[in-house]
Amino acid sequence: MRGESVVVVGAGQAGSQVAVALREQGHRGPITLVGDEQAAPYQRPPLTKGYLAGETDLAGLVLRQDSYYDDHGIKLVRGERVIGVDRQARVAVLGCARTIPYDHLVFATGARPRPLPIPGAEHVLNLRTVADADAIRERLDGQIGLDVVVIGGGFIGLEFAAVVRKLRHEVTVVEAQSQVMQRAVSAETAQHLVGRHRSEGVQILTGTGVAAVREGLVELTDGTVLVADLVVAGIGVVPNTEIAQRAGLAVDDGIVVDAHLRTTDPRIHAVGDCARFASTHAGGLIRLESVQNATDQATAVAAAIMGGAEPYTALPWFWSDQYDVKLQTAGLTNGHDRTVTVGDPAEGRFSVFCFKDERLIGIEAYNRPIDFLMGRRILESGTALTPDVVAQPGFDLRTSQQKKAA
Ligand SMILES: Cc1cc2nc3c(=O)[nH]c(=O)nc-3n(C[C@H](O)[C@H](O)[C@H](O)COP(=O)(O)OP(=O)(O)OC[C@H]3O[C@@H](n4cnc5c(N)ncnc54)[C@H](O)[C@@H]3O)c2cc1C
Repeated sequence: MRGESVVVVGAGQAGSQVAVALREQGHRGPITLVGDEQAAPYQRPPLTKGYLAGETDLAGLVLRQDSYYDDHGIKLVRGERVIGVDRQARVAVLGCARTIPYDHLVFATGARPRPLPIPGAEHVLNLRTVADADAIRERLDGQIGLDVVVIGGGFIGLEFAAVVRKLRHEVTVVEAQSQVMQRAVSAETAQHLVGRHRSEGVQILTGTGVAAVREGLVELTDGTVLVADLVVAGIGVVPNTEIAQRAGLAVDDGIVVDAHLRTTDPRIHAVGDCARFASTHAGGLIRLESVQNATDQATAVAAAIMGGAEPYTALPWFWSDQYDVKLQTAGLTNGHDRTVTVGDPAEGRFSVFCFKDERLIGIEAYNRPIDFLMGRRILESGTALTPDVVAQPGFDLRTSQQKKAA
């Protein structure tokens, strides 16, 4: 409600948006945003894009100037960890032992890189925070032709590989699965991205894991040994759930929340990478790691704290930039049983329409931003589109929707 106090734990993309959205929606009570990083809340996507390439500095990453938080009465506490939540006393406990009372508390603690369970993991760098990106930039700065090994062919690993290749280093990506980005995109899209990387001179090895890392060497499970001046891992993340778990809330690969993003305690919500929520699009509990998810959930939780009763139903979407490829996905394409490709793959402009039981569940637009935009609208409105219609020669999403509207 309007005058109640809100404590947000974690000052990243989601946490800062909870505070901003509360003020935008007319909340007048105290808001405290506690983050354990030194930087003001910032966006992570440029860490594997412009920031890593040296095209953007920290000022270009921050979501809002410091003055915004002061001007809007948001108490931003930086460089401090919340170490506990006492639900009986309704206080958050900081590492410095200070307590902050709350009427509502929001967990927006994000996630951390999954530890690499192999000998020599201490030689491997991660890429989650601006401090991680700075450490990598320091190793690359002023050099060319270094041997760089990337462990993991997910979005982070591939985006990192693209930038480092552009900086004129030799890059090898090692992916244990038979396909890169297996959880996130269709085989068609993945194959095209692999082709794009190979055409730039990046070596991509699939179906082989990393057995050990030694000073200057990476040993693969198939016996291959790669020379490596720098090894970076992008093998996924672990949600930061420990404080919620200690506070007695339900946790299962994420802080479990209902369709209103409420935990098992009605005064506590969770949003963003740390939240496992009931998704109408996935048809069950899911945890998503994207800017869209962090921002939309944060805005929805602000509305819930203000007394709203709408469930969270936003359509998931995502983007990734690699070389000149803009890949945009609308909906969740994981679990599809049929795909139809539209456009010109040879020209690097196409969209993969993903269906499950004849129902469109998502679209992967590879340099086809109009398909992404139109696809979002279709998926949001629930308009039926069958694989047979999409497979017709000359099918175009724009004209097909215009015809429907006429
Ligand atoms: C390199 C990189 C590139 C990405 N690129 C894309 C992209 O192209 N497109 C896209 O959609 N998404 C992308 N993402 C994902 C997106 O950035 C995340 O999904 C988003 O940042 C999640 O926001 P969040 O607030 O939930 O978590 P975070 O942004 O991780 O913020 C959580 C914050 O809480 C802090 N915290 C944790 N525990 C505590 C505690 N106890 N006390 C105080 N503070 C705490 C953390 O240190 C962190 O600062 C990318 C992510 C990375 C790392």
